[in-house]
Amino acid sequence: MMIQRNKGILTVVSGFSGSGKGTIMKELMRRYADRYALSISATTRAPREGERDGIEYFFRTKEQFEQMIKEDALVEYAQYVGNYYGTPRAYVEEQLNAGKDVILEIEIQGALKVKEKFPDTLLLFVTPPSAEELKNRLVGRGTETMDVIESRLARAVGEAEGMEAYDYLVVNDVLDECVEEVHHLILGEHRRVSRNIDRINEMREELKSLPLSGLLIKINDKINGE
Ligand code: ADP
Ligand code: 5GP
Repeated sequence: MMIQRNKGILTVVSGFSGSGKGTIMKELMRRYADRYALSISATTRAPREGERDGIEYFFRTKEQFEQMIKEDALVEYAQYVGNYYGTPRAYVEEQLNAGKDVILEIEIQGALKVKEKFPDTLLLFVTPPSAEELKNRLVGRGTETMDVIESRLARAVGEAEGMEAYDYLVVNDVLDECVEEVHHLILGEHRRVSRNIDRINEMREELKSLPLSGLLIKINDKINGE
């Protein structure tokens, strides 16, 4: 009997701006490209230097974004520091059905909406080793003005209040270790009993249909207290 057991796991990775989510995702994709599909979000924010449309984000105008909302083309969307961000639906569904583990790198409001729609989503929260290090990383990245950096740090205070909603906390200190940790958390999620009901039932059937000699059947009856 062929049992379909290869549907991918949906994982959400959130974390304060500057905690290193983008860096971790890039490295995870480099190491395990066959296994993971990283969803590309749509946003109304301007591209940073080096960011390309359709690679880091789909860069859209406010009008285009609102049209996507109207057409129900997004799994979720949220506003973050003055801009819209949202997850296009088609890619996520397509990749999950193809058996890929799909990762959404999104902020907390979006994460909670995804969890509501798909309750078996794995929620990971990435933090830096300290708040001081967070600030250093944001400043060091050099992609935002000091004003925007401060808005993002202020937003982090609010986001920290929601961390208990997540399944696992991942501290991004040494990048290499952090990438492996994320990978192993997702692998572990595949082993969850509730995600393996088909496999369990198949094993039960196989065990029952094993040809047993009379002696073994007696031992079995004894174990079962008959
Ligand atoms: P996010 O996507 O969470 O906003 P980024 O991936 O852009 O964060 O990382 C923010 C900055 O911190 C970048 O300059 C990046 O190179 C740096 N960074 C990421 N991970 C680490 C790490 N483990 N140790 C030191 N610096 C890091
Ligand atoms: P950034 O501007 O630094 O790329 O992203 C800002 C924040 O928006 C980050 O916390 C990032 O995870 C989040 N984000 C990116 N894409 C999406 C999305 O599709 N939906 C939601 N809700 N948040 C997103």
